[in-house]
Amino acid sequence: MIIAAAVIILLGLLAFSARWTWWRSAAPGMKVLCYHKIGVPPAGSRLKELWVSAEKFRSQVKYLLDNGYTTLFFSDLKKLYDAGAPLPEKAVLITFDDGYENNHSVAWPILKELGAKGNIFVVYNTIGKTNLWHNPASEAWVNMATLAQLKEMQDSGVMEYGSHTMNHPHLSALKLEDAAWEMAESKRQLEAAFGREMCAFAYPYGDGAYAPAIREKALAAGYTFDFSFRQGKTPWPWDRAGATIDRLFIRGGDNNWDLALQLKCGASRL
Ligand SMILES: [Zn+2]
Repeated sequence: MIIAAAVIILLGLLAFSARWTWWRSAAPGMKVLCYHKIGVPPAGSRLKELWVSAEKFRSQVKYLLDNGYTTLFFSDLKKLYDAGAPLPEKAVLITFDDGYENNHSVAWPILKELGAKGNIFVVYNTIGKTNLWHNPASEAWVNMATLAQLKEMQDSGVMEYGSHTMNHPHLSALKLEDAAWEMAESKRQLEAAFGREMCAFAYPYGDGAYAPAIREKALAAGYTFDFSFRQGKTPWPWDRAGATIDRLFIRGGDNNWDLALQLKCGASRL
C-alpha cells in the first residue's frame, strides 16, 4: 500500500515537473512574448492554443507591470541596438503575429488601460480581410484588423508594427526571388501605409528563419531585426549575423506561472 502510494506521488511529481519545468536554470537574453489571437476561439477552430482569453491577457500584462517590467516597441529595441546599449533586465516586448481584428477590439483596450506597449507583425495583403492563408477546413477564418483600426492603434501610442510578409507564405517553398519580394515589398507597403520605418520582420510559420539564403534576403531588405518561431530567449547584445531572435509563446492554456517561468528560463513546458 505504502509503495503504491509512493509510486503515485512520484509519478504525479514527474508529470507536474514535465508540465511546469521549474527545474530549468535561468537563461539570460531578450524576452519577446509571442501572441496571435486574443479572445474566444470560433466554433471549429483547430488552433485553440493560439487564442488567449481577454481575462488571461489582462492578467499577464498586469503581471508584467506589477513585477516592474517595461514594455518596449520595436523602435525602442532599435534605439538600444543602434547605440550598443544594454537591454534592461526587466524589459519585455509584447508581439502579436498576423494582425487580427481582435488585437484591436480586445488586446488594444487592455494595453491602453494598463499603460503597456504592443507590437504587431502585419500581413500586408490581408489587412481588412481574413486569415486567407489558412485552409478554412482546418482553421476558421476570422477578421483581420482594417487599415483604419491599425492606424488608430498606432496614433494612440500603444501599438507599433513590423512586417509578416505580403501573403503569409511558406518562404522556403517559394523561388528565392519571390521570397525576397514578399519581405521587401511588405516593408515598402507598410512603411508607405503607416509613415514609419518597419525595422522588424517575423517569418510566417518560422519558415526560412534558418535558411541562410532567405535570411540574407530579409536582412538585405533593410530590417534590423528578424524574429523566428522558435521557443526561447536570445542573448543581448544580439549577434545579427549569427541567428534570428527567438520568442516566448503564450498559449491559451498558460497561467501566470508559465509566464514567470518563460521570462526567467525561456520555457515553461517540456
Ligand atoms: Zn503568422
